[in-house]
Amino acid sequence: MKSPETEFARLPGVDQILRRADIRAGAKRFGRELMVEAVRYELAILRAEIRNGGKSKGKSNNAPPARPGTSLPKKIADNALAWVETATSSSLRPVLNLTGTVIHTNLGRAPLPEVAIEAMARAARSPVNLEFDLDTGKRGERDRHVEGWLIRLTGAEAALLVNNNAAAVLLALNTLAHGREVPVSRGELIEIGGSFRLPEIMARAGCRLVEVGTTNRTHLNDFARALNKRTGAIMSAHTSNYVIQGFTAAPAPAALSALAHEHGVPWIHDLGSGTLVPLESFGLPHETTAREMLDAGADLVTFSGDKLLGGPQVGVIAGRAELIDELRRNPMKRALRVDKLTIAALSALLPLYANPERLLKEVPVLRHLTRKEGELRKLAEQLAKFLGPRLRGYKVEAASCASRIGSGALPIETLPSVALAIRPESDASPEHSVERLAAAMRDLPQPVIGRIHDGALLLDLRCLEHKDHLPGALKPLLQEPARNRPAATKKRR
Ligand SMILES: *Cc1c(COP(=O)(O)O)cnc(C)c1O
Repeated sequence: MKSPETEFARLPGVDQILRRADIRAGAKRFGRELMVEAVRYELAILRAEIRNGGKSKGKSNNAPPARPGTSLPKKIADNALAWVETATSSSLRPVLNLTGTVIHTNLGRAPLPEVAIEAMARAARSPVNLEFDLDTGKRGERDRHVEGWLIRLTGAEAALLVNNNAAAVLLALNTLAHGREVPVSRGELIEIGGSFRLPEIMARAGCRLVEVGTTNRTHLNDFARALNKRTGAIMSAHTSNYVIQGFTAAPAPAALSALAHEHGVPWIHDLGSGTLVPLESFGLPHETTAREMLDAGADLVTFSGDKLLGGPQVGVIAGRAELIDELRRNPMKRALRVDKLTIAALSALLPLYANPERLLKEVPVLRHLTRKEGELRKLAEQLAKFLGPRLRGYKVEAASCASRIGSGALPIETLPSVALAIRPESDASPEHSVERLAAAMRDLPQPVIGRIHDGALLLDLRCLEHKDHLPGALKPLLQEPARNRPAATKKRR
């Protein structure tokens, strides 16, 4: 074995590597500083290896293993380039959402309709009249670009936009009930995944939460007793991710509205997902619309843009004009305002709501939610037939499953769907496991995200946009089918 001194002496210098053509091209593309850092890093790893008697301590990067006979300087350059490539590529990657949860918060909720994407790209590329009135040449108001459509679709007198629904609730409470009491039913003290907790939002809005009623039953009288001269607003919320069933009671919306108005306080209702159209007309379960709550007498409703609405992340507040004006004047509105891209996307999306046919075709969330089980089954059978022989060690079958809408819309309703159920072959070696396969799929250039259920990796096809997308994404894991092998295997059994 060579002594460490000889090994160290064999290492090329930083300058030698930096003079290589491939590294000079890398420096041009990624910047010299990053390239130098990467080369130094690779050399440091090699020195550490020599000190450890040739054993590597951790992997330098995800470069493919060097072919035998590759020179040391080339190996170092390849590794450095691979490192810089990874470091400069976005960690935010498109994935295939085959989890069966259509509006998946961790996967970025609603994919946008093409018209909205195009509108965002146009607005991104150039200056726009975001807050500029082209008629008068004076300052305009950004939310006005979509307010007309929101009024038309909800029946509200006025509407405004903020960053998301959490911000909508925060702004409404802070504006109307800062330093005051806000009664809420104990059955509606919601926590929505990822840290939206109504009691905490209320505290940050500067309101004092007054719990009324019980978990399962709250009566109008409970609210009536809680109202006093310190009350700032009545708050209610859609129980987005749970249901209270059985012996339950809640005040009728019209009665709650009348009570609030008798006491001269507004009633704010957090719709959560909210929808602008009656979903039952698309064969989906009913979800309360913004219009229904406003008709029932809510003074303000708040809802998200990226849940059932199928648009960008945004919070909409719609309701009485004088209240919306007050909200607009709150300095907090400035901190919570939306950008031009959001407004561009929304102004392309909302007009689709005037045309149900285009709406169902063009808004991915609604398209996915309304896909028929029969279509999904056909797709599953086709894909199982293609993928089965190519995914060695696993068997792939079409299997019935249940999709969820997700993100706090219709929490207990599921939609009959069809998945590819993937399990290791009974004679497969132990390295074939559903956990390993799920991990390998997450590691693909375009990750495929399924869910593990009952010992199978389920790929729910409801959100698969095109049948080629799945074989395309899985390609690195697929092999050519072995000829005649299935027949031979069968005979032996
Ligand atoms: C989803 C949801 C929220 C939070 O909305 P974001 O847009 O994620 O901020 C608040 N309230 C209810 C009832 C919800 O369902």
